[in-house]
Amino acid sequence: MMPAEPDFPVSRLLGLTRTELFTQVESWGFSRVHAARLWRYLHWECAESLGEMDALPARVRARLASELGDAKASVAPAVASESRSNDGFTRKFLLELGDGRLIETVLMRFSGRVTACVSSQAGCAMGCVFCATGQMGFGRHLHAGEIVAQAVHVQRILRHAPAAGPGQHRLRNVVLMGMGEPLHNYDAVMKAVAILHDPSGVALGAERITLSTVGVVPGILRMAEEKPPVHLAVSLHAATQEERARLVPVTAKWPLDELMAACRVYSERTGRRIFYEWTLIDGQNDSPSAARAVGRLLRGLPAQVNLIPLNPTAGYGGLPGHAEAARKFQAVLADEFRIPSTIRQRRGIDIAAGCGQLAAASGQSSFPHLSSLLRQSPLLPQS
Ligand code: SAH
Ligand code: SF4
Repeated sequence: MMPAEPDFPVSRLLGLTRTELFTQVESWGFSRVHAARLWRYLHWECAESLGEMDALPARVRARLASELGDAKASVAPAVASESRSNDGFTRKFLLELGDGRLIETVLMRFSGRVTACVSSQAGCAMGCVFCATGQMGFGRHLHAGEIVAQAVHVQRILRHAPAAGPGQHRLRNVVLMGMGEPLHNYDAVMKAVAILHDPSGVALGAERITLSTVGVVPGILRMAEEKPPVHLAVSLHAATQEERARLVPVTAKWPLDELMAACRVYSERTGRRIFYEWTLIDGQNDSPSAARAVGRLLRGLPAQVNLIPLNPTAGYGGLPGHAEAARKFQAVLADEFRIPSTIRQRRGIDIAAGCGQLAAASGQSSFPHLSSLLRQSPLLPQS
């Protein structure tokens, strides 16, 4: 299905590649110099409104305002609300799209780097039982500009924040691990990736974007052919079709053996290692025998396993795996299979309450406030 038409005006501009933006501006009768300035304002200065773009002549700004249909000439998404973790390292934004839908974007500070976790859809159609976004169902695809806008939003925050140490002044990594299934919205996601890589814009370095998929086999095979410059993470959670079906319903459509075959093709064609995500659920998939099953499944594949303690959600009764179980799981993978793994930290957990308040204020009862907030912070790629 094609992405819906962009809803908030800026996405029309932010969703254009540099070449497309130049063509667009020239079609309005303005010069390439103006196009270059506009690009810089949007993707480098991260301007919030046309009013800030004073190096553009008034007639150019007037035309833009009329094209955008925005009386206030805002070029930034509306922040419906925000919450911060007590340690100050994690900030979660609820961004409001033009049609009133809310999406989540999270800014995470680490020593020496900042990562943005961005959404690819409002809601999700895949229905994983433990996931708050899955529990809320599918809203719509995001347009490329709406994905780019989330990274630009984080970059804007960093530009205006007081210097906070090395690597803290600009966005370095983006993870497509917010709301939605990125490979269900392939074209818009890949266009956003290309725009975010543009060296004259947000300029994310090669391989600084990680895309996490539930296992959309046609999308993985397409990535194997097209080789976009992103890391691939595959959410596995179970090592047999039967067990996986209890957690990830779409495994009925793309069975585990087909998924693993697609992963093999991807790694062979690209020469890249895949990250395999494993949400640890107490008593369900966190035993040493579960670790052995995943070890056997991944044998011979270039792999790293990311273990994520479950964050409880309203619609699912499971509990997080214990830290000790996670350590044993990791030891089995390392000692018996030589498979590297990480245990994701649970950072920024205290902002859950703040987010619950935001959701209540937003009036969207289906918003995955508490749990989805909790699940955002630990999902970090190793870099
Ligand atoms: N749709 C994609 C990307 C978004 S979800 C995917 O499923 O991979 C990103 C990661 O968060 C996935 O690995 C997903 O399984 C995990 N996740 C979702 N809900 C979670 C929860 N409640 N606790 C822990 N991890 C969760
Ligand atoms: Fe969708 Fe990913 Fe949540 Fe599954 S885990 S419902 S694919 S967002």
